[in-house]
Amino acid sequence: MTGPVPRTVLITGCNRGIGLELVKQLLAKPNPPDLLFATCRSPGTPQCQELTNLAAKHPNLSVISLEATDPGSVAEAKKEVEKQLKGRGLNVLINNAGIMPESTLESVDEKDLLNVYTVNVVGPVLVTKAFLPLLKKAAQVNPQAPMNWTRAVLINMSTIGSSIAKVSENFSWMQVVSYRCSKAALNMLTCCQSLGYKKDSILCTAIHPGWVQTDLGGSEAPLSVEESVKGILKVLCNLTEKQNGILLDWEGNTIPW
Ligand code: NDP
Repeated sequence: MTGPVPRTVLITGCNRGIGLELVKQLLAKPNPPDLLFATCRSPGTPQCQELTNLAAKHPNLSVISLEATDPGSVAEAKKEVEKQLKGRGLNVLINNAGIMPESTLESVDEKDLLNVYTVNVVGPVLVTKAFLPLLKKAAQVNPQAPMNWTRAVLINMSTIGSSIAKVSENFSWMQVVSYRCSKAALNMLTCCQSLGYKKDSILCTAIHPGWVQTDLGGSEAPLSVEESVKGILKVLCNLTEKQNGILLDWEGNTIPW
């Protein structure tokens, strides 16, 4: 990825997987963000050791406690981020945290659906609403600037599994019914946000990271987390108003909803 990097970024679910790799690759840029807020549910615990180690080496990395489904936790996180921003706005918010439990047409039930919906849809709603004033603030800095990630961008981490147009291609080997339903709802949320926040010049896009070797993706996934994140960052770097309110994969291809 070449090109300018946003000055202030917040990513959820950064203690492992794609979130952690996004943090690593952004920090490794020759022009890394001035402030990179990496959120996780329990900073300081062994589950967040890699983030803690990174923060010790990089003064521009701030590890923030955030449980995406808890409004109190989200509000506290926003307060802390706002304090550290010292009047600046937030250029990029990435709603990355997510879960994908086993779920088939036989096993899916109320508990499964509500649990997945809470993390994958309610979480991004709460987080976005809380941080919206900071995204708006960043967007207002240069009213003539084009919509792109150095101005103000909201990313929702979706999946090709959410696509109704594509479901017949992958349903036979990947049912995950509750996950698919939740991410289809996240896509609709992204569409609504892209229309609603356009007047504020905030670009809203959903991203499919590919099938990636993480705890969620499993070890048989074809893509390494490094490769996926390298692609995602290139896509984010090249986002323009044309990609507002669509689903893109890690290589920049549009996926039909
Ligand atoms: P991982 O399972 O590796 O990591 C998930 C992250 O989300 C962890 O940091 C986890 O924190 C966090 N998280 C889960 N629940 C919450 C919550 N309630 N509040 C805050 N954080 C939470 O997943 P990936 O890195 O693979 O996935 C990242 C995103 O990419 C997800 O949205 C996923 O749906 C999407 N995706 C992934 C694909 C893949 O192949 N890997 C394919 C398509 C989409 P903790 O450790 O505390 O649980």
